[in-house]
Amino acid sequence: MNILILGSGGREHALAWAVMQNPKCDKLIVAPGNAGIAQIADCAAFDIEDGGAVANFAEENAIDFVIIGPEAPLAAGVADRLREAGLLVFGPSEAAAKLEASKSFTKEICDAANAPTAAYGHFTDAEAAKAHVRQHGAPTVVKADGLAAGKGVIIAMSEAEAIDAIDDMFGGAFGGAGAEVVIEEFMEGEEASLFVLVDGEDVLAIGSAQDHKRVGEGDTGPNTGGMGAYSPAPVLSAEIEARAMKEIVKPTMKVMAERGMPYQGVLYAGLMIKDGQPRLVEYNVRFGDPECQVLMMRLGAQALDLMQAAAEGRLGEAQVNWADDHAITVVMAAAGYPGSYEKGSEIKGLDTLPEDSSNMVFHAGTKAEDGKVLAIGGRVLNVTARGDTLQEARDRAYAMVDGVDWPQGFFRRDIGWRALK
Ligand code: ATP
Repeated sequence: MNILILGSGGREHALAWAVMQNPKCDKLIVAPGNAGIAQIADCAAFDIEDGGAVANFAEENAIDFVIIGPEAPLAAGVADRLREAGLLVFGPSEAAAKLEASKSFTKEICDAANAPTAAYGHFTDAEAAKAHVRQHGAPTVVKADGLAAGKGVIIAMSEAEAIDAIDDMFGGAFGGAGAEVVIEEFMEGEEASLFVLVDGEDVLAIGSAQDHKRVGEGDTGPNTGGMGAYSPAPVLSAEIEARAMKEIVKPTMKVMAERGMPYQGVLYAGLMIKDGQPRLVEYNVRFGDPECQVLMMRLGAQALDLMQAAAEGRLGEAQVNWADDHAITVVMAAAGYPGSYEKGSEIKGLDTLPEDSSNMVFHAGTKAEDGKVLAIGGRVLNVTARGDTLQEARDRAYAMVDGVDWPQGFFRRDIGWRALK
């Protein structure tokens, strides 16, 4: 099977790594890829948000299966164009990708499915939004409706803060994403992510994870794209996972199918768990980054079979072969991230690190030049390890981190602390 993966982050390196382990994979191309991906697959450069360009490339290169990593091509309808061209694709249609691209859309689907989530109001007018805040009080959560790269969510501890956030959003602070605003009840609890494959009809849970969004140890400081993650998430017990599938995932996927938008691909359910009750915080329509790195480390080669089963509508007969294992990934980022940072510093020592089914450095913002690996992004490496226990996985990951010679980088020493405490 010839496979094309779209994307260039640590997520796509992890997907490529898992896919390459499956003997079914004859040829793998990743577009655009990165320096780490280039060590295991061919990389190609074209506009991955242009469905026509992707379809042409796939046809010219005899691709049998396209796996779409990031949300932007999904929201741009690339999966639809590829399906129209008769290609097998892993990833939802543009219509179904609204589960990530529009928060009010997701809320309405939850309402129709009777799925537990925060109470909310949806506004296109600042005055009405402010009146809602005055009526319901704080704390509350103000969200730009559209995609804002994780920045369009303000947890307001006071009414004044909520009102400022409403002014900012309608004032254009998040561009078109803030033309509509969702105001939600603030939910307490512990967050975890559940990853589910969906083939339009059947669903299959493929693992849970928790990430660390804040830049600083002890989960302090500004938000980032994620400084590390681990799987499984201890808070998502088998019982709570079963509830989340029964009360949230299955009924919402049923509503999507009934409305003529059957969902196909991976569904990432961000859950808030309190007193054994899971409630939906958000859906994303792709793997999380860095959560994908720990999921792929645990699933290995079967990830390809499972994604193919989802794309071919065969999930009803699929199952996950679980090992009783744990995985963790530690993000190494450029000093200054998530603020401004320098590009072009050299990373040494990577060739001294183990690379096997339990130890892997997935690259994100890297580039190969004259035989050197250079840092060209904010989040640069995902040092990932697996073990029989989370502690064992963590010890392995930090042993690798300590072998990376990159004075211009930094990382958190406490990834997984909540699960280990
Ligand atoms: P990302 O994709 O980066 O997670 P996003 O822009 O899609 O962000 P959400 O996931 O909806 O936004 O919210 C971001 C974070 O804000 C959540 O992970 C959660 O920590 C917090 N949050 C969102 N909604 C609520 C809520 N109703 N109650 C409490 N916390 C919330």
